[in-house]
Amino acid sequence: MGEKIEVVVLGAGYGGIMTAVNLQKILNLNEASITLVNKYDYHYQTTWLHENAAGNLHHDRTRIPIDEIINTDKVHFIIDEVVSIKPEKKKVKLETGELYYDLLVIGLGFETETFGIPDLKENAFTIGNIDSARLIREHLEYNFAMYHHENRKNPGRLNIVVGGGGFTGVEFLGELANRIPELCEEYDINKSLVRIINVEKETTVLPEVDPQLAEYAMTSLESRGVEFITGASFKHCAPDRIVYEKEGKDKEIATYTTVWAAGVRANSIVQDSGFDHCDGKIAVCADMRAPGHDDVFAVGDCALVVDEKTGHPYSPSAQIAVQQATTVANNIKAHLDGNSTFEKFEPRLLGTVTSLGNNDAIGDVFNNWKLFGWKAVLMKKIIDNRYLFKLGGLGLVMRKGKFNIFY
Ligand SMILES: Cc1cc2nc3c(=O)[nH]c(=O)nc-3n(C[C@H](O)[C@H](O)[C@H](O)COP(=O)(O)OP(=O)(O)OC[C@H]3O[C@@H](n4cnc5c(N)ncnc54)[C@H](O)[C@@H]3O)c2cc1C
Repeated sequence: MGEKIEVVVLGAGYGGIMTAVNLQKILNLNEASITLVNKYDYHYQTTWLHENAAGNLHHDRTRIPIDEIINTDKVHFIIDEVVSIKPEKKKVKLETGELYYDLLVIGLGFETETFGIPDLKENAFTIGNIDSARLIREHLEYNFAMYHHENRKNPGRLNIVVGGGGFTGVEFLGELANRIPELCEEYDINKSLVRIINVEKETTVLPEVDPQLAEYAMTSLESRGVEFITGASFKHCAPDRIVYEKEGKDKEIATYTTVWAAGVRANSIVQDSGFDHCDGKIAVCADMRAPGHDDVFAVGDCALVVDEKTGHPYSPSAQIAVQQATTVANNIKAHLDGNSTFEKFEPRLLGTVTSLGNNDAIGDVFNNWKLFGWKAVLMKKIIDNRYLFKLGGLGLVMRKGKFNIFY
């Protein structure tokens, strides 16, 4: 252990990278030794991955090299994979070594939840990082190319099934609705042969949003060829078909492309490292520390924060992860200054905007202000660009921002 307090931040997603960026702003050079660990040498915007997966946006727009964002005089960056955390020894085991910490921030994000559905993990694609998004894009193209290459025309090549009609599923459907006509043109395929099918357990998609917005979303997507099978549960996923159950009957869809977008859970490293957890997440104290571990903070999808008004946990989101990162950085500063009073995390939720492809969207912002169409599209771009500004200032907005409002 060195003289300086060792602050270790795990994960460079929204929560982790913003904690590191905030710390480099508020700490002087010698106040602490800050180490950021991430699996990749880049930060990616998870909220743009569905665009990469459909093939509408190149993944290089979504990822940002970490050394372009952090000040390497203040933050030591390690590219490595976290294997486990040993809180009792204040150590983090990495794929290629070990780190000691005085203060730890866990921002390792989410992983897919398959709810025990047989063979789903093995056979379905998920939208979780740049690699998985790139794989979906390539797989879609491969199957379109195979359609005319095979002697026997196989409809499964052109059927795309999306499991789950929550925010991620609906945003991906919107991107597919835009992308498929382009793919059809490129691979000489009649568009009427392609099916984009959403299988959703509830009776509507986006059950968490205002019914008027959910209906708008379904109508918009249906008008562009998306089929909805609601009130249906996934039962099985094979490489060439899925089985779902609706009204007590099992039905099958031939498909080589199933994208599962119906469930996420916190990175299992949290649970496996022995922290008290609630469905895999650390139910953090008001100051974002882990109960019983004054030296460990959790942010983003690894943290569970309950809304005192409703008694329900806040939904995981980039918005909340970024806000938590400010509280965590301020509380690390308070710790270093020897203050005993820590800031309480109070989310300022501005609402949600859900894209329906690049030219349509819905939003519920600023306390029930409903947005449809281009106004929601504009709001989504403002949100995306605002985040880039927070992360890397105007220069980053100019390099990676989204300015194409009207198509
Ligand atoms: C397609 C899609 C669309 C979304 N749209 C929205 C939206 O519009 N608005 C919104 O608010 N939220 C949205 N979300 C949810 C949002 O992206 C997450 O809530 C948010 O990313 C959580 O941030 P985080 O910092 O906890 O984790 P992440 O952003 O997932 O970052 C985790 C980081 O940890 C790294 N990591 C993981 N495991 C390891 C390891 N073992 N070792 C080292 N590094 C590791 C990863 O590389 C990653 O950089 C969307 C999610 C998806 C999938």
